[in-house]
Amino acid sequence: MSSTIRTRIAPSPTGFLHLGTARTALFCWAYARHFGGQFVLRIEDTDVARSTQEAVDQIVAAMRWLELDYDEGPFFQMQRIERYREVIAQMLAAGTAYHCYCSTEELDAMREAQRARGEKPRYDGRWRPEPGKTLPPVPQGVAPVVRFRNPSDGVVSWNDLVKGPISISNRELDDLVIARGDAVTPDGVGTPTYNFCVVVDDWDMRISHVIRGDDHVNNTPRQINILRALLGPNGALPVYGHVPMILGPDGDKLSKRHGAVSVTQYQDEGYLPEAMINYLARLGWSHGDAELFSREQLVAWFDGQHLARSPAQWDPAKLGWVNAHYLKQRSDASLATLVAAQLARRGIDAAADERLARLCALYKDRCATTVELADWIGMYFVDVQPGEDDLRTHVTDAVRPALVALRDRLVEVAWDKASIAAAIKATLAEHGLKMPQLAHAVRVLVCGRSQTPSLDAVLELFTREQVLWRLRTA
Ligand code: GLU
Repeated sequence: MSSTIRTRIAPSPTGFLHLGTARTALFCWAYARHFGGQFVLRIEDTDVARSTQEAVDQIVAAMRWLELDYDEGPFFQMQRIERYREVIAQMLAAGTAYHCYCSTEELDAMREAQRARGEKPRYDGRWRPEPGKTLPPVPQGVAPVVRFRNPSDGVVSWNDLVKGPISISNRELDDLVIARGDAVTPDGVGTPTYNFCVVVDDWDMRISHVIRGDDHVNNTPRQINILRALLGPNGALPVYGHVPMILGPDGDKLSKRHGAVSVTQYQDEGYLPEAMINYLARLGWSHGDAELFSREQLVAWFDGQHLARSPAQWDPAKLGWVNAHYLKQRSDASLATLVAAQLARRGIDAAADERLARLCALYKDRCATTVELADWIGMYFVDVQPGEDDLRTHVTDAVRPALVALRDRLVEVAWDKASIAAAIKATLAEHGLKMPQLAHAVRVLVCGRSQTPSLDAVLELFTREQVLWRLRTA
């Protein structure tokens, strides 16, 4: 079975790759990788008015950042229009689709009348050919839509990978428009509609498992019926799996209101791809009580079981915890590269060198993101502005003489942690002060804040000139 597993992610380039789609992409990718199959990227760009190249680029960049490598694609639906038209023409010829000449007014009136009778509005099949039925006369100058001839009875059933068995009565489904009444070709076929393109794509791309958000669950019976019409009664359908939404921390649908919703924004905000992968995987899937696991472990475990039926909730605190874990796993050199990029976004030109790596080593334990790391490390590159309150509280008359004395000592000492520590110690003894009194004051002046890691380690990574300059106001 392994070589036949083919999954796909099919984002619409009407915006950035959002977290829900990224999570679905991850599941599809992991499923394909687990079974040694293939993963396909398909860009669903038929909404021409809202699709942009920028969004396509961003989707591709986000997939690359998350290392969700695809084996085929990106395929673009707009490049496949002829193929969809060809299939529609075949369906018209086979009688599984038909032209409908209803005008918008007619359809409105139809629905109005149905509502008035207390019925659910639906297409009433007036142009649907039936044996012995006489169709209305074809009106002049009306470009027809093409409708799929949905089976009129029976049920559509599938065993959803996530939700279990689902059955929908065909009476619930009316004859879906599969081509619009525009841009009509000589055989009477306009622009194909979304639900139709998806079916042809999944068929042509030999997709074995359609794993997607459960906002598409209502499309599935229609898509299955169309696919059956194309494949014949014995054709093999893909397995469908509908993953529940991701909800915001307040239980509402995840939206901008809850903060970042695009994958690239998390990249900008200092999250690591391995943390995003780990965190996203746990939204709606579990493996025992495993919370922290590598990409390789995920692939080894992800067999389509243990997908949750209820919606997952976005938890920024947990994501922070996961990211902090992976931050500590990273080498200092790789953190330096990321922090240099974060600093560059602030207009600070810092080389990803040995010193920056040492700075990352010093501060990473207290940070959840590379943005927080850059918040610490920025003070090594730009001057700080101590707050009035901090100055008043910590840089007191009682401490000031010791600060002057320490500064004098620091002019002379060797610039390393041990010598700096010795200078501090000697100053404390000389002035009868306790470490926190002096250390807080030095931190406020040099770092602009009163809490930092061990002072000698913090000072050592500044230049002597920087420290002397910042202590001058004591
Ligand atoms: N283009 C659809 C979306 O972005 C996905 C459709 C599908 O997966 O079948 O929601």
